[in-house]
Amino acid sequence: MVAEIIDGKAFAATVRGHVADHVARLKEEHGITPGLAVVLVGEDPASQVYVRSKGKQTVEVGMNSYEHKLSADTPQKDLLDLIDKLNNDSAVHGILVQLPLPRHMNEDLVINAIDPAKDVDGFHISNVGLLGTGQKSMVPCTPLGCLMMLRDHHGSLSGKDAVVIGRSNIVGKPMAQLLLGDSCTVTIAHSRTKDLPDVVRRADIVVAAVGRPEMVQGDWIKEGATVIDVGINRIERDGKNVLVGDVHYESAAAVAGAITPVPGGVGPMTIACLLANTLTACCRANGLPEPE
Ligand code: NDP
Repeated sequence: MVAEIIDGKAFAATVRGHVADHVARLKEEHGITPGLAVVLVGEDPASQVYVRSKGKQTVEVGMNSYEHKLSADTPQKDLLDLIDKLNNDSAVHGILVQLPLPRHMNEDLVINAIDPAKDVDGFHISNVGLLGTGQKSMVPCTPLGCLMMLRDHHGSLSGKDAVVIGRSNIVGKPMAQLLLGDSCTVTIAHSRTKDLPDVVRRADIVVAAVGRPEMVQGDWIKEGATVIDVGINRIERDGKNVLVGDVHYESAAAVAGAITPVPGGVGPMTIACLLANTLTACCRANGLPEPE
């Protein structure tokens, strides 16, 4: 079997197109422009790339982008003051604090200082609780993008066996909640899971969010399964810097029914979902119907 490639890049372009259309209508009919504030503390090169890309795409869909760059030695209090200002700024509908933060800062405290209604990353404890109890919330962008691709590919996910590898607060756990919400039978695997290949072999849906280059091998995958590779790992191969996922693509694609590539799979969907969440936050803030 040769797997169908799930084209996250094309899907993300479609999502951004819908967001842009909706933003144009908001401006024309209500005189409202959604605004996204992104806060970057320090000079982490990968974070700088993400923040630039987020800012560019925010403007491309017609939203306002507000970038706040703080030096790595900024006192936590200054960051909290900035968040407070953004919470009270009616032009800002979404706030994203780029992680990781410098070591002298308490990430939980900073994230929980964001107004949950503007928490477009969906990491605030209120949004985590709302998602966990099946209530309307802000859904973390990466798992949301994965879910959208899975729904698009399968239609209903009901009754499917899903294995999520990784239990981080930003990917693994919310991914598992979303799959459970769509009535999958969900297993969450992690570094202490016994016989991981056997666990993965049971899955109709595999979501790999581990951070280990090409760890998931083709012979771990059930024939015809759908594989969503969240991993973004920079490695050196043949003297070149290349980007690989957490799944060994060639061997997995030979058995899977469908697979996301790296790059061009989950990554672009994450930013598209961030824009979709900002639009949703703006509609909610203004008492307007939410986008589909
Ligand atoms: P974390 O490091 O926070 O979590 C990794 C998880 O993988 C942990 O739960 C860990 O288990 C588990 N794990 C580690 N080693 C193994 C192993 N050998 N076997 C089984 N499980 C293991 O990573 P994130 O969730 O933040 O990110 C995961 C990957 O996704 C990374 O490659 C990251 O770059 C990428 N990513 C991609 C995004 C995108 O937009 N495409 C967005 C966010 C992340 P334990 O808890 O037991 O330690």
